[in-house]
Amino acid sequence: MSDYIVRGTAANDQIRFFASTTRELVEHARKLHNSSPVMTAALGRLLTAGGMMGCMLKGSKDTLTLQIKGDGPARGMTVVADASANVKGYSIEPQVILPANAQGKLDVGGALGKGTLSVIKDMGLKEPYSGQVDLQTGEVGDDLTYYFAVSEQIPSSVGLGVLMNKDNTVACAGGFIIQLMPFATDEAINTLEANLSQVHSVTNLLRAGLTPEQMIQHILKGLDPEFSDTLPTAYVCGCSRDKVERMLISLGKKELQSIIDDDKDITVNCEFCGKNYTFMPDEIRALKEKAQRD
Ligand code: ZN
Repeated sequence: MSDYIVRGTAANDQIRFFASTTRELVEHARKLHNSSPVMTAALGRLLTAGGMMGCMLKGSKDTLTLQIKGDGPARGMTVVADASANVKGYSIEPQVILPANAQGKLDVGGALGKGTLSVIKDMGLKEPYSGQVDLQTGEVGDDLTYYFAVSEQIPSSVGLGVLMNKDNTVACAGGFIIQLMPFATDEAINTLEANLSQVHSVTNLLRAGLTPEQMIQHILKGLDPEFSDTLPTAYVCGCSRDKVERMLISLGKKELQSIIDDDKDITVNCEFCGKNYTFMPDEIRALKEKAQRD
């Protein structure tokens, strides 16, 4: 089964929801970055959220960047998503190994430590929208819940989970984002809160084999969820030699001249997919001709 996101509304549009299954893309990221279990879970949660938040973007060319910086051994991670729920990401230290936390779970909060979560939305305007909050627990879901409340003033519940197999491959991954609209009634809010208090962790729902649709039926019981669409979500890098060339040109003539002066091939590595792009001094010279600024 490949990864997908469902979205819709409940309680006569007082609630909007997203839920997803992301095992394939999280396993793809694990292989790509050869990440440890705790870092597979950490990045997997952020990638899962990225897909759902990508769906919230208004313009088809808009992009979203989620960035966590922390003082823990993982130091941080970055996820980029587009409006078609294509996601990519990397962590600074993908091989961190930590003992399980007090609940016997992968210690994502311990790996990230204290720090900040930034959400940057590039909507093709001069200045991208950006919001930043302090990490609450570093467990990612809690931090995004806090971000939505503080930066976007949307009361939300974000649940994200990655469950590993004994051989350290990804068994299942997924999550949900439930949001209250400003006109939500106390009745709808109370029902939702009662339902959410029964959901101890997304991992439990995933372990029980629930699909995104079943997860929503469970969380929005009594609130008449209506599914509007199903969208694929996948790990897509989209880097190319052409894009790397444009990035090099943007460095400017001076910077490119200093690379030429070194008289060596340079290799640009894509952090998102590991692909290498090598340029010979003559090629850099040609790029320098195209550079606009010094
Ligand atoms: Zn790439």
